[in-house]
Amino acid sequence: MAQPTTAQPGGDAESLRVGGGPGRPEPGPPVVEALGVSKVYRLDGVEVRALDGVELVVARGDSVAIMGPSGSGKSTLLGLLGGLDRPTGGTLRFDGRDVTGLSEDELAAVRNRVVGFVFQNFQLLARTPAVANVGLPLVYRGLGRGERRRRAVDALQSVGLAHRLQHRPSQLSGGEQQRVAIARALVTEPAMLLADEPTGNLDSRSGEEVLNLLGRLHDERGVAVVVVTHDPGVAARLGRRVTLRDGRMVPERELTR
Ligand code: ADP
Ligand code: MG
Repeated sequence: MAQPTTAQPGGDAESLRVGGGPGRPEPGPPVVEALGVSKVYRLDGVEVRALDGVELVVARGDSVAIMGPSGSGKSTLLGLLGGLDRPTGGTLRFDGRDVTGLSEDELAAVRNRVVGFVFQNFQLLARTPAVANVGLPLVYRGLGRGERRRRAVDALQSVGLAHRLQHRPSQLSGGEQQRVAIARALVTEPAMLLADEPTGNLDSRSGEEVLNLLGRLHDERGVAVVVVTHDPGVAARLGRRVTLRDGRMVPERELTR
């Protein structure tokens, strides 16, 4: 299911699985631990329990698919795993440190150091050239212009876009825009990439390229990859799958019924 349909340069189809290849790195120490986390939103006095007691540990070298119907809490979980938000219950740890003990600035620093985000709609700055979009996370690291550019060019090269440095998002295809977004996520050398339906807005060929790229980053650099997807074919290419329903994790045995 959903193996690449054409031979890709650099390896056979099996080795391009995200985390499924024979040379698959062993999972390392935990990057993020969500232990019994819950998230309750309050909107106009109404409580929405978006997550309810979810357990998920992502280790270095892991590759995980998060599945589930719309509204089941997938994006909320990804936001917690990336330190965009804090849980309202349970424990969330980055590198073994509980986020409840971190200030906003410390949490932002964890985010910048540990996590790279990739979104369905790319979220690039529209009037900004690719190279500047990719260099942006490095501004928060206080790196000088020359060093930012050098690293951004490297990152764009690693996603096959060294020839598109000055292109603005509107001058790029959807697949290319997503690869720019992946380069931006990579430029800080994160331990973990979090991708929310990264192929949702792409045609199947571009989606395939993006998945192959994520697979390569996982296999070659040991980056942990967590992908939210509706697509069972995409999920099948990741090392393991978790499924949410109404904010709760569905045990594997119930999935087969
Ligand atoms: P998914 O990504 O699986 O579609 P979400 O994580 O986006 O689901 O949302 C889970 C539930 O939480 C939904 O019922 C959604 O309406 C609700 N929700 C998400 N974000 C907010 C928010 N900022 N405020 C209030 N409710 C929210
Ligand atoms: Mg979502």
